[in-house]
Amino acid sequence: MSFQDIKGQDKPIQLLKEYIKNSHLEGSYLFVGEEGIGKKLVAKTLAKAVNCEGQALDSCDTCVSCLKIEKGQHPDIHIIDNLTAFNVSHAPSQKIGLEESDAIKIEHIRQLQKEINLKPYEGKKKVFIIDNAQNLTADAANALLKILEEPPSGSLIILISAKPALLFKTIISRCKMMKFYPLQRTKLEEFLRKDFHLDNNLAHYLAYFCEGRIGRALKLKDTDILREKNRIIDAFTLVRRPGSDKLSIENRNNVRVHLNILAAWFRDMYLIKIGTPYRELINLDRKEELLRLMSRYAFMDLYEIFNLLSNSLLYLERNINIKLLLSNLRWSLKSAV
Ligand SMILES: [Zn+2]
Repeated sequence: MSFQDIKGQDKPIQLLKEYIKNSHLEGSYLFVGEEGIGKKLVAKTLAKAVNCEGQALDSCDTCVSCLKIEKGQHPDIHIIDNLTAFNVSHAPSQKIGLEESDAIKIEHIRQLQKEINLKPYEGKKKVFIIDNAQNLTADAANALLKILEEPPSGSLIILISAKPALLFKTIISRCKMMKFYPLQRTKLEEFLRKDFHLDNNLAHYLAYFCEGRIGRALKLKDTDILREKNRIIDAFTLVRRPGSDKLSIENRNNVRVHLNILAAWFRDMYLIKIGTPYRELINLDRKEELLRLMSRYAFMDLYEIFNLLSNSLLYLERNINIKLLLSNLRWSLKSAV
């Protein structure tokens, strides 16, 4: 994907193109903004653009360099993140995988330090991308700081974080910060309908449930999210509906999604009670039902439910037994009606 295909990040992309054009793209950058809005995609596209054999200010996506970067096989592009891992030297098979919550340790930064001082193997610029930079340990941050103080010319370091408040201030002060924002929900809904050919119900649900975060919406678009979310709402709120009780609880992430789906449902209930325009509802596909059910919930009930859901999210972070959490929640939500 090239810059021109990336939706909704026109401002940072424009700025980066200016830097490339004026040969000001040097040193270290910090991309901040919510999860799932395209920070890493822009970073990777930037790595392609500055190394592209064809175009001047964007990636062509067809030259050898662009293709290698896309496949994670370029010896001068290094990514430390939770999905791909760190490409060591020109042996892309040597990888250190990191989980989202895993710390970025000093060993990872030492590898970076070794690499950054070598000339590019075949590209024009060496690019180092550190995703979830808030996960740097204190030792790793200190080691990185030394590199950021005097980054070798011809190299580029891009830190990415959705939680910049957790970053060391000294690190932030050494980087040029670029802010990324989610799309407007109506805009994302339009993209999903026109560019990705989703039907109205799905496009609306994804745009509003994902709060304008295009990356998250695109991840969910090929799943059975609409049916799944309705199944979850039914299982937790209806007193009885055959077959609606069987929910997959194999991992904590699933449970987190369940809790967010339920929070969205009761948020809608609240919005409809205070007379917000219908198109602001996340569950617009169940508008009639929301209208029918709203009299069952007093505002106090809804406040209690919001508390219950946010406490459940907290308990989830604290490794509480998932089965117990869900069965308590189901019981509490059903008895609230
Ligand atoms: Zn290219």
